[in-house]
Amino acid sequence: MYVLVNLIHRCRKPLWYHVPLHLRERHVAIDDVVIVPLRKQTIVGVVVDIRVALSAQDRCHATKDVIAIQTMPPDRFYAVFIKKIAAYYQCESIYFLMRLRQFLNKKRSVECASELTHVGSEADATVHLTQEQQAIVEQLKISVDRNIFECSVLHGVTGSGKTEIYKALMHHTLSLKKSVLFLVPEVGLALSFQKKLAQCFSAEVLYGFHSSKTIAEKKQVWHVLVAQRPVIIIGVHLPILLPINNVGLIIIDEEHASHYQEQRHPKINTKDVALIRAHAYNVPILLGSATPSVASLHNVETKNWKLYTLSERFGGHFPKIKLVSLTDKKKRASFWISNELYMAIDDRLAKKEQTILFLNRRGHSFFIQCTSCSFIVRCHACSVSLTVHEHGTLSCHYCGYTMREPTLCIECKSEALVKKGVGTQQLENIIRALFPSARVARADLDTTAKRRTWEATMQAFTAGDLDIMIGTQTITKGHNFPRVTLVGIIWADIDFHVPFFNATEHAVQQLLQVAGRAGRSTPYSDVIVQSMTQHDVLESLDERLYRSAWYVQELEKRRLTNFPPYKRLVELELKHTNEETVHQDALELVLALENYVAVHGLDVDILGPAKPPVYKIKNIFSRKIYLRSISFQVIIVLYKSVKDHKRPSSLFFTPNPQQ
Ligand SMILES: [Zn+2]
Ligand SMILES: [Zn+2]
Repeated sequence: MYVLVNLIHRCRKPLWYHVPLHLRERHVAIDDVVIVPLRKQTIVGVVVDIRVALSAQDRCHATKDVIAIQTMPPDRFYAVFIKKIAAYYQCESIYFLMRLRQFLNKKRSVECASELTHVGSEADATVHLTQEQQAIVEQLKISVDRNIFECSVLHGVTGSGKTEIYKALMHHTLSLKKSVLFLVPEVGLALSFQKKLAQCFSAEVLYGFHSSKTIAEKKQVWHVLVAQRPVIIIGVHLPILLPINNVGLIIIDEEHASHYQEQRHPKINTKDVALIRAHAYNVPILLGSATPSVASLHNVETKNWKLYTLSERFGGHFPKIKLVSLTDKKKRASFWISNELYMAIDDRLAKKEQTILFLNRRGHSFFIQCTSCSFIVRCHACSVSLTVHEHGTLSCHYCGYTMREPTLCIECKSEALVKKGVGTQQLENIIRALFPSARVARADLDTTAKRRTWEATMQAFTAGDLDIMIGTQTITKGHNFPRVTLVGIIWADIDFHVPFFNATEHAVQQLLQVAGRAGRSTPYSDVIVQSMTQHDVLESLDERLYRSAWYVQELEKRRLTNFPPYKRLVELELKHTNEETVHQDALELVLALENYVAVHGLDVDILGPAKPPVYKIKNIFSRKIYLRSISFQVIIVLYKSVKDHKRPSSLFFTPNPQQ
């Protein structure tokens, strides 16, 4: 017996393998996962064809023996689901299987890992709900019971106890012998949720499946799925691709987060994939957030999605919000710390309460410029300025290139170099100088290598061993610091001018999330918002006004500019090592698209080609083209007309692109 195997290995053509006698006890089927030899490696593949004998032409190479056959967890909807997402992302189904089964290919994967024994702790199963929470849980339980596709948005203000609702629904779903997929936008959050949920669920049912888990832990999840036990699986991107026959509920927390879109092409968006999965499996999906996305709220209005609101904080009160301009001419100790913020920090130190200072560094906010020729020190491989770091070094946040801080301008040899903007390290120095007795720490997370230090800082801050914590976006989500009564936002409008249709949405969500860290358990708290320019959005920076004020305005802007949620948007990205080549390819692609649209009378806007703000990363140049239409299917038809044209640049397709 022979099997044709689609190899999960750099897009190789499928190869025929022989199934040795001792493996035939198990029935081999299409879609089975097999371990096969390829040169000196053993790799994973998927069976795509089965024959009793091979023709001479198929037998062009010496056929080798299959080493092992993996048991796939049973899942009757899986093939349909994978086909759907492959169509959505316009890529091969094998890609998704490859993502999922990479861990099966790792060492010791040939034999089944022995079932690890859990130390089942006695978990406290009781969940205490407020009346508001209970009413929502009762409604949602009905859709879990009925096994119907239903999208619900849970808009719960910061500190309103969304987690309690998740817990109650998890209990209910498990009691029906069904599994829960619980997704969060970052690995750090997955870890902290697993800790939180472990107080309530035994290790027999609670599993994490993400990049922080070992291969053995991932295999254990695989075996649990093979055994079809009802479980809760927590993760970021990967769990949504797991075959789970008994999935009964999908929960997406922090559903507004752009992190659900992966960084590398194909840029899979876990939230979109989860919606496709819930639909394919006929199960309810719950999207929770303190700042729901414009798209989800719009679906409530137009697509019959349900909306549930938690408007009260569980404990504590909403902070008072004060706007301060950094450009006023008042005398102060540091440009970056307004007098209002200075006084407030001083007051908190005296009262032994905690302060968070937030700086969003997604922009290139701290660089060196020559004042005589305006030269900015840039990365040689990326189109960004180098960021000033400690110990006199400059580094690139895209490729990691590092150099010593120059003493003379590289261009004109002048000594007139100045540092512009502000970074977290500089902010830390400023704060230490202004408040020498305060216990200050910085929690920013550039690389996962720093995760341990970052976690230690978060723990110390939660325990009250620090007075002031300086951080970036990594501290904005999901964390609860009961002693914080002051949040200072250093440069609120830094991200408002990013040229993308939803840049303001992400900026506002992030500011509200960080502001929401204040006053979790105190009757008073302040948020001081410093900015360079006046901006209407900053006036409505109160989460209680999110839907009534900010969302309404933002939606109207989208309607007037024809952007999502009013139209569907797809990003095409071209990449090449030569800038002239990628530019020419982009121009030709736009011409071909325009031509097809004209000939077939399609209703699609073609925007671009545009040079993105960061148009070069690691010496690879990029150009972007956007396709916009009422109908996603029409965009697909248009894309397919150009997809396979021969061109030197690589072409990537991203539906529903996030900034
Ligand atoms: Zn110069
Ligand atoms: Zn670089």
